[in-house]
Amino acid sequence: PSQVADDLALGQRHLTKGIGRLTEAIMTKGEGSYVHFHDGRRFLDFTCGIGVTNLGHCHPKVSNAAADQCMNLVHCQCSISFHGPTIRLIEKLLTIMPHQSLDSFYFWNSGSEAVEAAIKMARIFTGRQNIICMQGAYHGRTYGAMAVTKSKTVYSEGFFPLMPGVFSIPYPYWHQLCVPPNTSEAELVRQALYQLDLVLKQQTAPRDTAAIIIEPVLGEGGYVPAPPAFVQGLRDVCDKHGILLIIDEVQSGYGRTGKMFNIEYSGVRPDIMTLAKGLANGFPLSCIVSRKELTDKLKPGSMGGTYAGNAVSCAAAVAVVDALREERVLDNVNARSKELISSLKSLKNGSEVGQHIVDIRGQGLMVAIEFASPLYASQDPAANPHAPKGIASRVAKRCMEKGVLILTTSVYEVIRFIPPLNISQEDLKKGCDVFAEAVREVVR
Ligand code: PMP
Repeated sequence: PSQVADDLALGQRHLTKGIGRLTEAIMTKGEGSYVHFHDGRRFLDFTCGIGVTNLGHCHPKVSNAAADQCMNLVHCQCSISFHGPTIRLIEKLLTIMPHQSLDSFYFWNSGSEAVEAAIKMARIFTGRQNIICMQGAYHGRTYGAMAVTKSKTVYSEGFFPLMPGVFSIPYPYWHQLCVPPNTSEAELVRQALYQLDLVLKQQTAPRDTAAIIIEPVLGEGGYVPAPPAFVQGLRDVCDKHGILLIIDEVQSGYGRTGKMFNIEYSGVRPDIMTLAKGLANGFPLSCIVSRKELTDKLKPGSMGGTYAGNAVSCAAAVAVVDALREERVLDNVNARSKELISSLKSLKNGSEVGQHIVDIRGQGLMVAIEFASPLYASQDPAANPHAPKGIASRVAKRCMEKGVLILTTSVYEVIRFIPPLNISQEDLKKGCDVFAEAVREVVR
C-alpha cells in the first residue's frame, strides 16, 4: 500500500496539472467491459476511454494481432516505405467506406492530427483559406483543431490568437438556437442553415471559404445527432459554392451510432472524413480519407510524421474491422441502444426525478440524457428556475461510488453513455440500474 501511495504522490506531483482526471487512482487492468484499479475495485466501464475501446478492453483478436506484429515489425516510417498492415487496412477500409468516392487514405496517430491534416488539405485542394465550424464542436487540442473547437473555453483560454480564418454557426441544437427542446427538427434545420447563409453573405464569401467541418453527432458539445436534413443542406451549400465538406467521425464513427459511419444516416458524401478512437480499439491511430482526384494535388512531403500510421496500430485496426463483422457488433449496438434509451425514458416518465430530465437523445450507443440547468431555465419560461446545479457531475460521481464509470459532456447538464459496442445485455442493464439509482439519490 505504501508503494501505491508513493506512486500516486509521484503522479500527482510530476504529471502536469493541465490534465483533468475523473479519479485519483491507478488503473491496472482492462477486461472486456470492466476495468480494475490498484485498490481492487472493479468498474463497469461506460466511458470506453472516451469512445475508444469499443470492442471492450484487450479484445483478444486485437491484442493478439498487435502482439504478433510487435514481434515482426514495430516501426516503419511512412516516408521510407509501405508496410503490410497499412495495405491490409486500406483493403479492409475500402469495403466499408460510406461512399465509394472515398478512396485515398492517410494515417496519423490522433484525432487532432487528422483534423489538422484535413484543414491543411482543404486549403490546398481549394486554394481558399477560411473554415466554417459549428458552435459546440470539438475537434482537438492542437492549434488548428483548437481553432475549430467551440465547445468549452477551457480548450482555448490563454492560447489566443488562434488560427485565423475560422467562422462558426450554431449546430441545430435547441440550446444554441435559443428555442425549447421540443422544437421540430425541421425548424432547427431551417434556422441553422439560415445562419450559414448569413455567415456566407456577411463574414466569409464562398470564394474565400475552403471547408465546412462538422461532427455528424456533436460529441463534447452535448451528444446531439445532426438531423439528416441539416447535413444534406450543408452538402447542397458546399456543392453550390465549391466548398468542401469535412465530416469528423472521430467519435461517432466505427459502429458507435449503430451504422458503420454516422454519415450513413443522411447518405451525404463527405469530401474529407476523419476517423480515430475506435479505429484500433486503443492503439493510437487516426485516418484521413478523401478522394484520389483531390489528394493528387498534394506535393510529396507535404504530409507525414514520424509515427504516422504505426505498423502495430494498423495491424490492430485490421483485426478491429474483422471483429466488428465476425461478431456482428452492429446488431448488438442496435439491440442494446433500444434497451438503453427505453431505460432512460422510463426514468423520465415513471418517477419524480423525471421533472428534472429535459432531453434524451442519441443513436446507437452514443446516447445522452440532459438535466434541467440554470442555463436551460433561462431559455424556457416554463422550466423550474431552481433546478439543482451541477446535477450531471454529481450523478457521475455517485455512479462511480457504485462501480460504474460514466462521463458528463458539454457546458450543459449532460451525461453521456458510451459503453462498449459489444456490451452484454446483462451488463448494460446493470449500468442502467445503477444510473437510475444514482439519479434518484442525487435529485432526492
Ligand atoms: N474530433 C472529435 C469528434 C473528437 O471527439 C475528438 C476527441 N474527443 C477529437 C477530434 C480529437 O481526437 P484526439 O483526442 O485523438 O486528438
